[in-house]
Amino acid sequence: MTATDFDLRPNPRPHSDAERLKVLESPGFGRFFTDHMVSIRYVEGQGWLRGALEAYAPITLDPAASVLHYGQAIFEGFKAYRADGGIVTFRPDANARRFARSAERLAMPPLPVETFIAAADALIARDAAWVPTAPDTSLYLRPLMIATEGVLGVRPAHEYLFLLFASPAGAYFSGGVKPVSVWISEDYVRAAPGGTGTAKCAGNYAASLVAQRDALAKGCDQVVWIDAVERKWIEEMGGMNVMFVYEEGGKPSLVTPDLSSGTLLPGVTRDSLLTLARDRGWRATERRVSVDELTADIASGKLKEAFACGTAAVITPIGLVKSARGAWTIADGQPGKVTMDLRHQLLELQHGRAPDPHGWVHRVG
Ligand SMILES: *Cc1c(COP(=O)(O)O)cnc(C)c1O
Repeated sequence: MTATDFDLRPNPRPHSDAERLKVLESPGFGRFFTDHMVSIRYVEGQGWLRGALEAYAPITLDPAASVLHYGQAIFEGFKAYRADGGIVTFRPDANARRFARSAERLAMPPLPVETFIAAADALIARDAAWVPTAPDTSLYLRPLMIATEGVLGVRPAHEYLFLLFASPAGAYFSGGVKPVSVWISEDYVRAAPGGTGTAKCAGNYAASLVAQRDALAKGCDQVVWIDAVERKWIEEMGGMNVMFVYEEGGKPSLVTPDLSSGTLLPGVTRDSLLTLARDRGWRATERRVSVDELTADIASGKLKEAFACGTAAVITPIGLVKSARGAWTIADGQPGKVTMDLRHQLLELQHGRAPDPHGWVHRVG
């Protein structure tokens, strides 16, 4: 399948140039949407039907659609950037594969990786004028899949809808990179072994909202999840993975919770940073990290820096860790040198301004 394999139904009322430019002056995040979207239907027995590149618009759903009752809903998130005259995406194949794995976990039909990438390329090419040009801005791509069959029996649906739309995104930290404070939640659980923690599914987010609200009430910016079984191992922060920076033999050494528990979301940003660190000859270890170890290492000064990583913010420094037991400021509470250095390197790579030894940068068109 190629980018031309979609029926084209152009938006009869696209934004005017003036309207679009006004949006692009200050897009924020997830507030404005481009003129088009890709939609592809799946019908049991027929498979994925021919998709369409059509006007971004509300959809109609049967009130009995199983997504509204039993929650078969998954999504992804990745970005397109301007890069020396063209437009690129970053590791879209990794998002496509994760989308297929999320689908399998929720008993949904996996969308072929090449269809996912072709859909993104087609939409980006069509709405290329929506990719912002200012530093650190991007066009955020949001693919999703929902069960649309109108049937109340509890079983995997027989009909699905894949949608892909795009939203221009401003620089995440417009007033300079600011560290966040995090609340270690002992009251709520994000994911348990055997559950859906490794799938990017809507239900995980629904279940996280009260914990995030609780973190705000405790004066923190973000919630940090610990494991469901022993209630002592750090898992992730909100919708981002976490990394800890130590020093070993005069070099930085990264430590991040490992994926073997099957309860963490395997982030593309996480994987990219582990690879970049190893490319530099740093140690990057995936292992369990307990709350006790973390707070002891902050208190002793052994832990030098901490940050969270994910597509939306790339890297967010963590300045303060709080729990029901106390509060711990990491080093001087300011963004660390290694954190900011990795952030810069990843952004350079994503914007096509740095060498790309792993072939992560995907040219659109
Ligand atoms: C999407 C997501 C991440 C980050 O993944 P990236 O691929 O780096 O954007 C981390 N944790 C959760 C829970 C997520 O949903």
